Amino acid sequence: MEKRIFNFNPGPAVQPLPVLKQIQKDFINYNNTGMSIIEISHRSKDFMAILESSKKRVKRLYNLDDSWKVIFVPGGASLQFAMVPMNFLTKDKKAGYINTGTWSTKAIEEAQIQGKNIKVTASSEDKNFSYIPKNFTIQKDLAYLHITTNNTIRGTQWQNLPETEIPLAADMCSDILSRPLDIEKFGIIYAGIQKNIGPSGTALVLIKDKMLDLVPEDLPTMLSYKTYVKKDSMHNTPSTFSIYCCELVLKWIEEEIGGLENMAALNKEKADYIYNTIDESNGFYKGTAQKEDRSFMNVTFRLLNEDLENKFINLALENGLGGLKGHRIAGGVRASIYNAMPLEGIKTLCKFMEDFKNQNS
Ligand code: PMP
Repeated sequence: MEKRIFNFNPGPAVQPLPVLKQIQKDFINYNNTGMSIIEISHRSKDFMAILESSKKRVKRLYNLDDSWKVIFVPGGASLQFAMVPMNFLTKDKKAGYINTGTWSTKAIEEAQIQGKNIKVTASSEDKNFSYIPKNFTIQKDLAYLHITTNNTIRGTQWQNLPETEIPLAADMCSDILSRPLDIEKFGIIYAGIQKNIGPSGTALVLIKDKMLDLVPEDLPTMLSYKTYVKKDSMHNTPSTFSIYCCELVLKWIEEEIGGLENMAALNKEKADYIYNTIDESNGFYKGTAQKEDRSFMNVTFRLLNEDLENKFINLALENGLGGLKGHRIAGGVRASIYNAMPLEGIKTLCKFMEDFKNQNS
């Protein structure tokens, strides 16, 4: 096998190695069909079994009852920015959005393009999106309150969900299946699957059936959540390969990790390891997110200046640690440490950080 690096890219992102090995095997001959996983029909017994199993795994992992529908939608999370308001905000309906960064801003813009009645309930733009807003007032009679549970670019994450009876509509792209959830607070959860569950281009969407009552009948077929529910995500030919990869990753979370409690504990251990290295560096590394809002998925930090940051990122790559460059909007360094990043990768990064500090301070 070619040498693999520790991959800290923000997405597409690291996937569990046993999953990649299984994919490699199934790519030529899936389940003795004599065909590749990408060659079998989406209507075949083999694929239907994959789809069914993946939905059941999501339901088991999040303890979802039958009032929840699990669907796969093409177009990644960005299409969800448009579909959420399109499906839930008919004439008199309104929604609140909490703006915690670039991705929330894009969600807001997509609702505004459609002329929907939305309000920005709270924002952390005043401090470069370095924190999660608290103590805000939530308007009444909202069809949903939209939040981005983890802010991939700024490295913040909701550690406590907003106190409200209004159903949350959550962009969970970068922390889906990373921790257990108080599921009854949500009306819809969506995530592009390219970080914690598989390849890019498809969204996993969990939708509570009462939200479906809001969906108007006159939407284009492929833009209505009802189509995906009614046709079991198969109105058109879905990305069979993506769904198959999801199934393998979900199986890994259930059977290798042992579920979301264990996943969350492992993710916390990994994140704490890096945050401790930052906090004990005497200011050589400076975390950019407010401490209580720090993300367990994307750790963002700065060094003294950009030259030193570039030196850090380049030398890290030479040492087998890739994808550490911060988003161009935020600059600095970002270690994306999704579910599949092993603890060994974190320890290797922290050792590198200490050595780099000693050589450059
Ligand atoms: N929301 C968040 C929080 C993200 O991190 C991303 C992608 N990095 C998106 C939305 C957009 O996802 P996609 O590229 O699948 O449209």
